[in-house]
Amino acid sequence: MTDRYASFVQSAAGRALVKRLGLPDPPRLRRHHPGDPLLAGPALLGAATGGRLAEPIAKILTAAGVELADPAAAAHSHGDAPQRYGALLFDATGITDSTELRQLYDFFHPQARAVLPSGRVIVLGTPPQECPTPREATAQRALEGLVRSIGKEFGRGTTAQLVYVSGTAADDPAHSAGTITSLESTIRFLLSGRSAYVSGQVIRVGSGAASVPADWDRPLDGQVVLVTGAARGIGAALAKVLARDGAKVVALDIPAAGDALAAVANDIGGTAVQLDLTAPDAPTRLAEHLASRHGRVDVVVHNAGITRDKTLGRMDADRWDQVIDVNLSSQERINDVLLERELIPAGGRIISVSSIAGIAGNRGQTNYATSKAGVIGLVDSLAPALRERGISVNAVAPGFIETRLTARIPLVVREAGRRMNSLAQGGLPVDVAETIGWLAWPASGAVSGNVVRVCGQSLLGA
Ligand code: NAD
Repeated sequence: MTDRYASFVQSAAGRALVKRLGLPDPPRLRRHHPGDPLLAGPALLGAATGGRLAEPIAKILTAAGVELADPAAAAHSHGDAPQRYGALLFDATGITDSTELRQLYDFFHPQARAVLPSGRVIVLGTPPQECPTPREATAQRALEGLVRSIGKEFGRGTTAQLVYVSGTAADDPAHSAGTITSLESTIRFLLSGRSAYVSGQVIRVGSGAASVPADWDRPLDGQVVLVTGAARGIGAALAKVLARDGAKVVALDIPAAGDALAAVANDIGGTAVQLDLTAPDAPTRLAEHLASRHGRVDVVVHNAGITRDKTLGRMDADRWDQVIDVNLSSQERINDVLLERELIPAGGRIISVSSIAGIAGNRGQTNYATSKAGVIGLVDSLAPALRERGISVNAVAPGFIETRLTARIPLVVREAGRRMNSLAQGGLPVDVAETIGWLAWPASGAVSGNVVRVCGQSLLGA
């Protein structure tokens, strides 16, 4: 599925027309290619007085080969050749009272036009529920409004995120090593082209064990990863991205999709499993397959999903049952068996694909939205329960992604869905895949219980 309007806008004739008529202007997004630098220009790092994260962040940036801009020079760069930045990062953990929010204005105001296309804005805070006083919790909660507004204002493919970093993320607050290990994968992901279509998100980084890869271009080296619904669409992109990042991929889909599935598996040197996830014996057959071939599964990606749209009054019970069964109940049954048989080891990951329909609801999709909201419930309930076993549980909630599923939407509705977000375009399957990849990395063990939207900051459910 191609976005012809976006291609037109990026041509010379298109640019002229868009400017003249004030039409939506979807920017070309920077996407990841192995070996790419994380940013297209230097990063400017600021901090509120008394913050605890500026030092670990500076170390992460330096280790990742990002050039750090000199804040003193930035303050005086209003002249003829203003400095441009690949990213603006601000450690707001020192803000303990609403009156101190002014420090955000002082940092971002002079740089509002200094961010390069597909730039990155990251604000770091303390989770409000961890703050010792109501005033601090209030100020930390306020950060969300700033970040979400910057995501809508800066334009040209710039994304903005808030990362709440638990105070317990550091093994020892006096040393930043624990914090660096917990945070590094998230900072790298958010700066890189991997997060091209993720914006306006609040990500929580906790204290789970994380390990740094030998090679950040192969962050999944040696990991056994199951991808359901891998024959096409987002699942096929997932298989490709995860294999590129070093994983051994077990690609699963229904027998009717066997040929397409085999093509995906062959292409990436993975294996194919033909299985209908709703079959009564699917969980045990899958568990036996994984046990005999690999002895374990490090990452389970529940991606398979279906839609059977009708308004509630016109929906037959079959449509309801099928959608709930494929999109939610089958995930629960598979998790139960894999966990019971201890096939997901410590350091394991469970990642489900939800949808913004599960957050916002959608006309004609009561069954689908119920199943996808249930997926969020699964994350909320399983993440704390599995923390002790060292297994993280997260979900992604895609917005409008260019696939066969969205190609079937009537033209006018499709065009509205595609443009109603801060990036004025639909995402690509690879954008969802890259986000799931980051959650899957052994380096992302401190990220659990999150639902990350991959929606270009869609207005739906915002
Ligand atoms: P898709 O229809 O292209 O692919 C889904 C795959 O799941 C298919 O290959 C299908 O055969 C497989 N599948 C369905 N039922 C199965 C079963 N019982 N057992 C095994 N495999 C089964 O869809 P997609 O657009 O790639 O979507 C992937 C996931 O992303 C789904 O969970 C979907 O709900 C979600 N999602 C997609 C979008 C979007 O815009 N495309 C938006 C939000 C969420």
